Amino acid sequence: MEYKSIALDGPSGAGKSTLAKRLAEELGFLYVDTGAIYRTAGLYAQRKGIAPSEAQKIAEFLPVLHITLSHGDDHRQHMYLDGEDVSDLIRRHEISQYAAAVSAVPAVRAFLLEQQRALAQNHHVVMDGRDIGTVVLPHADVKIFLTASPEARARRRFDELRERGQDVSYETVLRDILARDEADTTRADAPLKQADDAVLIDTTEINLDAALARLMQTVRERLP
Ligand code: C5P
Repeated sequence: MEYKSIALDGPSGAGKSTLAKRLAEELGFLYVDTGAIYRTAGLYAQRKGIAPSEAQKIAEFLPVLHITLSHGDDHRQHMYLDGEDVSDLIRRHEISQYAAAVSAVPAVRAFLLEQQRALAQNHHVVMDGRDIGTVVLPHADVKIFLTASPEARARRRFDELRERGQDVSYETVLRDILARDEADTTRADAPLKQADDAVLIDTTEINLDAALARLMQTVRERLP
């Protein structure tokens, strides 16, 4: 059976995960959050005492790094580090910078690539990330690049973290978003960029429902 894949890339806070989840529900596809995989690697680095500035040190731990994931009945993607469910822990604000740091290490990207491809080989997927349309699934049936202004993205991230009870200022979140944009777009290996054949959707001025409607329209036009 030929499985369908939808690649959803873009910077942090553009609404990717919420929209990808809803799109996957609408279509009955599996939602794959690849950022969560990098976050789990970032958590591992933090636990090993590897600072973001020396992230390349994680390479020597790859043979013993054991990251797995499962999609349960609750429709959530659960992440496991050495068998421990770390799905909530990896959402903490400080893990973002560890994730961005380890994701710039080529050996880490190579290590995690097959795991992501295997999911698309066995399921219809909506996969969200930074390099899905360019590197992980270059032959995806539909590619979408979702973006928004840094301020709009920081505001959304800020609201989300507050909802989770994290005490962090808007200014800190904006600064971190800009730093991650810089890191993600300038890294040598699989930088964040729009694939040539991706459809651009800007969510700065539109709400999630309007963005979902645009996504659905794009998918309907492109998926037979
Ligand atoms: O999407 P999320 O913000 O959870 O991703 C965390 C970090 O993981 C990103 O800032 C990015 O550096 C990295 N990432 C990546 N490639 C992906 C997904 C995430 O480099 N496909």
